[in-house]
Amino acid sequence: MSVDTVIQQLKTRLSDFDAQIETQEVGTVIEVGDGIARMSGLDKCRASEMLEFPGGLIGIALNLEEETVGAVMLGEYAHIGEGDTVKRTGKVLSIPVGDACIGRVIDALGNAVDGKGDIKDTEDRLIEKIAPGVMTRQPVDEPVQTGIIAIDAMIPVGRGQRELIIGDRQTGKTAIAIDTIINQKGQNMKCIYVAIGQKESTVARTVAKLEETGAMEYTAVVTASASSASSMQYLAPYAGVALAEYFMDKGEDVLIVYDDLSKHAVAYREISLLLRRPPGREAYPGDVFYLHSRLLERSCRRNKEHGGGSITALPIIETQAGDISAYIPTNVISITDGQIFLNSDLFYKGIRPAIDVGASVSRVGGSAQRKSMKKVAGKLKLAMAQYRELEAFAQFASDLDENTKKQLDLGQRITELLKQPQYSPLPVGVQVALIYAANIGALDGIEVKEVQNWREKFISHMTSGHGPLLEKIEQGWNEEIEGELKTVIEDYAKK
Ligand code: ATP
Ligand code: MG
Repeated sequence: MSVDTVIQQLKTRLSDFDAQIETQEVGTVIEVGDGIARMSGLDKCRASEMLEFPGGLIGIALNLEEETVGAVMLGEYAHIGEGDTVKRTGKVLSIPVGDACIGRVIDALGNAVDGKGDIKDTEDRLIEKIAPGVMTRQPVDEPVQTGIIAIDAMIPVGRGQRELIIGDRQTGKTAIAIDTIINQKGQNMKCIYVAIGQKESTVARTVAKLEETGAMEYTAVVTASASSASSMQYLAPYAGVALAEYFMDKGEDVLIVYDDLSKHAVAYREISLLLRRPPGREAYPGDVFYLHSRLLERSCRRNKEHGGGSITALPIIETQAGDISAYIPTNVISITDGQIFLNSDLFYKGIRPAIDVGASVSRVGGSAQRKSMKKVAGKLKLAMAQYRELEAFAQFASDLDENTKKQLDLGQRITELLKQPQYSPLPVGVQVALIYAANIGALDGIEVKEVQNWREKFISHMTSGHGPLLEKIEQGWNEEIEGELKTVIEDYAKK
């Protein structure tokens, strides 16, 4: 062989040489503590990428700095030390989701924690995703029935809406969310309850209640309890919404409850301070608004061309002494489409659910309200607004004119009427009948302390004897239905 051919052959061989060497980027831990690790040598690491520590421990890269990468470790990290090797996985954090998650209790990484075995037939979904764009959405026009008369009448929630539940500790915030979930039976709704930073016993009690009422048939619970790492508490709501999106993408309607986002913000603050991000107002990091806005923006109503699914979000925020002007409450109020404000004074007075009608609002749900409810609720709202105004001022006045007295009387009776025990949601038909009765003066002759009693009896009278009428009220509203309802109420009043 001549030198020339050898050179020629070498050239061709080299030209189609394809390096098949597998490369893996590894780094070294330079500092570790409090669930946080700082590493060097991971130059190409991406934000939110999963990193593999020795022993299979997973971490997520949160701080990408010039020389180092800061990550939170998801799990037991006692065995990790300075000098350990860390591998990039190339994958952004995702969790396994699927239909089998319904009826189960999972943690923020999608692992079952209810002792009922592994969850099968799942697909991986990114925990962080960009919210659906404007052109794929449509306005809210279908109601979410909470079964709580004060909410369905005056602060209605629609599918795809984000409605905040806000109030001090122990004012019945969770109760409203759980009652709403219980009321979704047979309403074509998947429910997801995300428990963040709660006691494990509390979560267990909630799950037991959901099981007892049959709500677990369409509900999944995501939990990161108070004893779990703050990284898990930070991830839990995103895991919940990733599961919700799985159902929304199939065209289904989903209700998701975040209980609560105050604890979520605290967990995020802890992580941020440990990662040495600069603290801002109330020591929260500067991006805490973005933390909640990118979460809540993912709730929406898709239009028909995009499957028509929806995610309705009920985030919960705990306030300190009713202070809604603190940092986290104002943030979340501005992100949501309205709020249900719970007042501890009302709660202790025995007005439960302790909804402060004056401070609560729903900015979009009105257009989703059932026709019959819309018709009767207008008068109710007006009566309650007048009552609130007069109540404060009437305390100082000794004699009042007839008209004022009448308004006060009606207000007192409606307040009684709107009281509702836990775990007893009411169907729309019954709600409309109750409000209509108050509107036409059926309560006027009844002692205030007798209203509750009257209410119970009236409800059982309606449900046992007038099922078809209640059905008609749910479907629509016209003079004929109104007339029929009026006769029924008047006959009942005579008895
Ligand atoms: P936390 O701040 O601890 O999370 P919370 O605001 O979520 O409390 P809940 O746990 O829902 O409040 O309710 C507090 C207490 O009030 C519970 O004991 C609950 O049973 C009771 N409660 C809530 N709603 C009602 C209601 N409508 N009628 C009677 N009791 C109620
Ligand atoms: Mg609660």
